[in-house]
Amino acid sequence: MSWKLICIRCGLEWPTQEVRYRCACGGTLDVVLGDGSKLSFEEADRRLMSRGSVDRSGVWRFREWVLPLPSEHIVTKPEGNTNLYSSRRVASYVGLDEVWMKHEGENPTGSFKDRGMTAGVSAARWLGMERVACASTGNTSASMAAYAAQAGMKAFVFVPAGQIAYGKLSQALAYGATTLQIAGDFDDAMRLVEQVSASEGIYLLNSVNPYRIEGQKSIAFEILQDRQWSVPDWIVLPGGNLGNNAAISKGFMELYQAGRIPRLPRIAVVQAEGANPLYRAWTTGRPLQPMRAETLATAIRIGDPVSFDRSMRGLNALNGVVVSVDDAQILDAKAEVDAAGIGAEPASCASIAGLKALVRDGVIGVGQQVVAVLTGHLLKDPDSVVKYHRSEWPGVQCRLANRPRSVGATLPEVLAAIRES
Ligand SMILES: *Cc1c(COP(=O)(O)O)cnc(C)c1O
Repeated sequence: MSWKLICIRCGLEWPTQEVRYRCACGGTLDVVLGDGSKLSFEEADRRLMSRGSVDRSGVWRFREWVLPLPSEHIVTKPEGNTNLYSSRRVASYVGLDEVWMKHEGENPTGSFKDRGMTAGVSAARWLGMERVACASTGNTSASMAAYAAQAGMKAFVFVPAGQIAYGKLSQALAYGATTLQIAGDFDDAMRLVEQVSASEGIYLLNSVNPYRIEGQKSIAFEILQDRQWSVPDWIVLPGGNLGNNAAISKGFMELYQAGRIPRLPRIAVVQAEGANPLYRAWTTGRPLQPMRAETLATAIRIGDPVSFDRSMRGLNALNGVVVSVDDAQILDAKAEVDAAGIGAEPASCASIAGLKALVRDGVIGVGQQVVAVLTGHLLKDPDSVVKYHRSEWPGVQCRLANRPRSVGATLPEVLAAIRES
């Protein structure tokens, strides 16, 4: 096959046919594509009109840049092809004339995780694996359960008990994954799934898996294609385990190094204040200090991120910044994104909260072209929405609360309610 697995820390190369996620030195592995990785913008555009599911996928349409797997191994729904929205309301909220939002919640299972999972499950099939596992704050497990079911594989999901949004837990159960609610946090679940996968010969599909990153790179490619191959000034996205910002950076870096795009965008990674180990390391220049994570944005409630090294590489290459926002800022931004008719889950809206802070601080200026990534669907976490609109979040001023009204089942009462609204 025409790719290599290389340790991002020490540069050692590992055979691709072997199941391995980390180097002997502990570093994560990078997929490095060979010379066959050529694809023209014209061909990528032509595939948009194809009827074949591999061409139609927003991941495999770019297969030469992602992973040149034989097509018989590809498990696709097909994913990607998400919309890029512009909103005046959100733009004025963050203090810009224009802002674009790439809505990854429009993927088949409702989050960008599908882009990584189609690559990871296809690699599992190519390697001949029949069982897959992941630890998850919810969306990874929802996605893995769906792709594993489609591929006829057995799926094991490790979730922190009581800390995952209902929409996500229900997907894992519905798609038939064996779901273990671990009495601990995400970082405990992660540690256990790595041990169990190694000892039981189960294929691990967390973002430590190098192929997940390859699939998620396609967010960068699709943003470029949506913009007729013009590079934006900024990409803004939330960071939890840090795989996604590492992936998007890798996608842009590879196209830039191949001379396909004239410049790189800058990247801004937004963390929740209660789960911001990258922000702390970035602003102090110190090594990663794992922390006990706490935020209502459950998808980014991670204190010991697996892709820290990869993320730092991308931040350095793309002249990036890291910003931290609190839960009240996240909920306020979410209410704006929702009220704009776009809607996304809390972690996704950290992008918009972070963007607002960066405009306020003068890091991002009017006239710059900004694409914020909305990572997950509004309905992933309906509890958080209802709680907001009932003003039930302690310590949060629910400025846009849209309270449900109780009305008797009579015409006069209904008319009165309508007239006073
Ligand atoms: C997984 C996830 C994130 C965090 O992405 P990382 O790659 O872990 O940094 C953010 N938002 C949503 C909705 C997610 O599912």
